[in-house]
Amino acid sequence: MDLTLPQEDLAWQRRAKAFAETVLFPHELELEMNGSLPRATKDALRKAVVTHGFHGINHARDVGGQGCTQMQQTLINEELGKATGALWAVVWHPAVPLKHGTPEQIRDYLKPSIAGTRRACVAVTEPGTGSDVRMVQTRADRKGDRYVINGEKWFVTSGDEADYIILHANVDGDANKPTLFLLDKSLKGISIKREPKFTHTYVFGHPEFLFEDVEVGTNKVLGGVGQGLELTKDWFVEARLQIAANCLGAAIRAFELASDWASRRVQFGKAIREFQGVEFMLADMAVEVMATKSTIYRVAWEIDHGVDRKVVHARASALKLYASEMAGRVLDKAVQIFGGRGYMRENPVERLNRDVRVDRIWEGTSEIQRAIVGAQLHKRGTGLFTGWYGT
Ligand SMILES: Cc1cc2nc3c(=O)[nH]c(=O)nc-3n(C[C@H](O)[C@H](O)[C@H](O)COP(=O)(O)OP(=O)(O)OC[C@H]3O[C@@H](n4cnc5c(N)ncnc54)[C@H](O)[C@@H]3O)c2cc1C
Repeated sequence: MDLTLPQEDLAWQRRAKAFAETVLFPHELELEMNGSLPRATKDALRKAVVTHGFHGINHARDVGGQGCTQMQQTLINEELGKATGALWAVVWHPAVPLKHGTPEQIRDYLKPSIAGTRRACVAVTEPGTGSDVRMVQTRADRKGDRYVINGEKWFVTSGDEADYIILHANVDGDANKPTLFLLDKSLKGISIKREPKFTHTYVFGHPEFLFEDVEVGTNKVLGGVGQGLELTKDWFVEARLQIAANCLGAAIRAFELASDWASRRVQFGKAIREFQGVEFMLADMAVEVMATKSTIYRVAWEIDHGVDRKVVHARASALKLYASEMAGRVLDKAVQIFGGRGYMRENPVERLNRDVRVDRIWEGTSEIQRAIVGAQLHKRGTGLFTGWYGT
């Protein structure tokens, strides 16, 4: 069994590490202290993503992407996840379902999104719809050759930055016809209702949107009427892996900073790491990081080697659950090791500690991931999680 990473993968990892440290880290404090970055900085960051070749890492080369394997994407996302303020989000990952667009949609939405000249946000959640997406109330009523869309969407990440929305609505209000629509934000009837503040400082916003009699042609349906949930399945796997990799990166940065601090900080005449209370925290962090890294790389490898989609889906849930909860535990210890300094916003571990909290909520809460893992255990047995190849 050879677990060595290929040179090509290591090269992506090195480039991502350099990008995070030299392009993203320098903006962390400004973002934290001001709550946002100036337009000119955001534009410069967008250009830097292209210059450094990180545009469309999750899409094929024939549509302008980088054609990265899942392992390469994981290595990149791990490095980017070390940046605070979710600065990793400046590297766009155009939504996977866009691949299933018509030739016209690929030309008008997917390719410009990869190139960075357009940006999407995704609107599924509503005031009455969170974990249970079947509760979606936003409707798209067919009127001749048009759809008329009405509804309200919450927590739309990057909704301020995006110029179009991938909207989940039920055609004719029928829950059996969940459908994705491509809506240009400039369309009449689309407005931002509110821009709430959140626990984390995030490079973009998460506004709430209103859709009032928004009219679009049938050519704005992505992937077919009723295909909304099906289209998002593979996307969930990729998004959950991305979150897990970001969490791993955050935990590694915090662990390294805390370990370094524990060697330098002297109390009662010795470095605090010499106290077993601190040493045990560092030991737990090391073990948690090692276990998470092994699992993430395993699932990324499985995707690249064509392991059954349903198996990967279940394992991606297990992974997202484990990695996000691991990051919470590791960050909490990092803050503790820094003492009062761990509570200062100028300290990356303080910011990362807030940043990783949402990873237990979005893309399916921890409870929803447990429900998926539990259901898969019931259906396929314990071997899905305990087994190995060849056994
Ligand atoms: C910062 C941020 C950014 C976001 N970005 C986006 C975005 O870009 N687009 C988008 O569409 N959405 C986005 N979301 C929404 C996110 O996906 C939802 O918040 C999440 O799915 C949970 O839904 P909810 O908040 O309505 O909580 P609820 O579904 O109301 O859950 C509340 C609690 O009940 C628990 N619960 C619910 N059902 C079950 C169950 N069956 N078993 C056990 N426990 C259960 C949950 O785990 C949770 O603890 C974002 C959220 C945040 C906070």
